[in-house]
Amino acid sequence: MPSADETSVHRHADTALIHAGRTPAVFGGFVNTPVYRGSTILAESFDEWERGKRDSGGYGDYGRFGNPTTCALESAVAELERGYRAQVFPSGLSACTHTLTAFLKSGDHLLISDSVYGPTRTFADSVLKRFGVDVEYFDPIVGPGIRMQLRANTRVVFIESPGSHSMDILDVPAIADAAHARGAVVILDNSWASPLYFKPLALGVDVSVQAATKYLVGHSDALLGVATATERAWPQLVGSAHAFGETAGPDDVYLALRGLRTLGVRLRQHWQTGIMLAESLLNHPAVEAVLHPALPGHPGHDIWKRDFGGASGLFSIVLKPIEGATLAKVFRHLQLFGLGLSWGGYESLALPVGRPLRTASEWPYKGPLVRIHAGLEDPQDLMQDLHAALHQALKK
Ligand SMILES: *Cc1c(COP(=O)(O)O)cnc(C)c1O
Repeated sequence: MPSADETSVHRHADTALIHAGRTPAVFGGFVNTPVYRGSTILAESFDEWERGKRDSGGYGDYGRFGNPTTCALESAVAELERGYRAQVFPSGLSACTHTLTAFLKSGDHLLISDSVYGPTRTFADSVLKRFGVDVEYFDPIVGPGIRMQLRANTRVVFIESPGSHSMDILDVPAIADAAHARGAVVILDNSWASPLYFKPLALGVDVSVQAATKYLVGHSDALLGVATATERAWPQLVGSAHAFGETAGPDDVYLALRGLRTLGVRLRQHWQTGIMLAESLLNHPAVEAVLHPALPGHPGHDIWKRDFGGASGLFSIVLKPIEGATLAKVFRHLQLFGLGLSWGGYESLALPVGRPLRTASEWPYKGPLVRIHAGLEDPQDLMQDLHAALHQALKK
C-alpha cells in the first residue's frame, strides 16, 4: 500500500504522462513545449554575466547543459521514475555507458548480470577493461546469493530485468540490498518495462536507465537515452555526463516528449497483444519454450508479479531444433512482422537471435531463439500471420 507521502506526492502514471514536463503558461499557452535549438544563451548585461549564475530558468549558461525542451523531458522522466533528476543522452547505449563510467575508476570491480543488452557487455569487455576495470558477470537469477560475488572493491552492479532475449527476471531488491551493504552503486537498464511498469529506484536501485529509443519515443523515428538518479547518485551522474559533453538533439528530445504522451495507451495494447501471442504459442508443436515473465509458468513470474505493474510487448520464443533453411522459411513467410533491430515502435518485429551469449550461467535450450515485438496491429491479424508462417515453414 502506498504511504501517505506517496499518494500525496505522486499522481497516477496516466495523469503524469499527460502533464509531466509541460508548462503551457510559459510558452504563450501552447500545449507542447517547443523545440529550442541553441548553443549560445545571451546574458542580459555585463553585470549579469559577471554574477556567473544567470537566471536562465535553470538551464545553465550554455546549450550543452540543457534547454527548455531537454529539461521538459528530463523532468517528466524523473517524475515517472520517481527519481531526483534525469539526464538525456544521444542513445540508450550512451546512457548505459556514461552511467557506468560516471561511477567507475581503474582498479574497481564491476558486476554485470549475464543477460544484459549485448552492446553494454561489449562496452564493459572492451573499453572498461582497457581502462583497468575488473569486469565480472553473474547469473541473473542469483538473488541474494550475489553476496558471494561482491568484493571490497565492487563499485557498481549493473543489471537489466528482464534480461535481453532470455527474459529472466532479477530479484532487484535482494541484489540492491546486498550491493548497498558493500557500498556498491546499482544501475538498472529499465527499457523493457519503461518507467510506467517498473520503478527501480523505489526498490533500491541508484540509477535507472532508459533506451528512450524504444517505448518512450515509440515510433521508431529517433534514438535517445535517459538516466534517472536518486538525489545521492545525481551529482556524480550529471558531473560525469557534463564532463563528457553529453547532450541530445532537441528535435529527438521533442519526439520523445511527443511519444511519452501516449505511452500509457500504447503500452497497454503492446502488453495485451504480446500476452495473447505468447499464450497462443505455449503448446505449439514447433516451440520448445515461450519466455515471457507475465506467463504463470515463467520461472520469474512471482517476482515479476511482486515488482512490476505490467508487461511490454517484447518476449522471446525458443523453437525446437530445426535446420537453418527451415528457420529462414519462417521469416520468409511472415508478412506483418518486420525483421530488424530495436523494438518499442508501433510495428511488430521478429528477430532471429540464435543462441544468446552467456558466460556466467547455463543456456538450457537447444533450438534457436526468436525475439518477438508485438506491435499495435490488430492482434488477431498478428496471431494469424505468426501461426501461418510457422505452419508453412514446418509442413512436410
Ligand atoms: C536498444 C537497447 C539499448 C540501447 O538503446 P539505443 O538507443 O539503441 O542505443 C539499451 N538497452 C536495452 C535493453 C535495449 O534494448
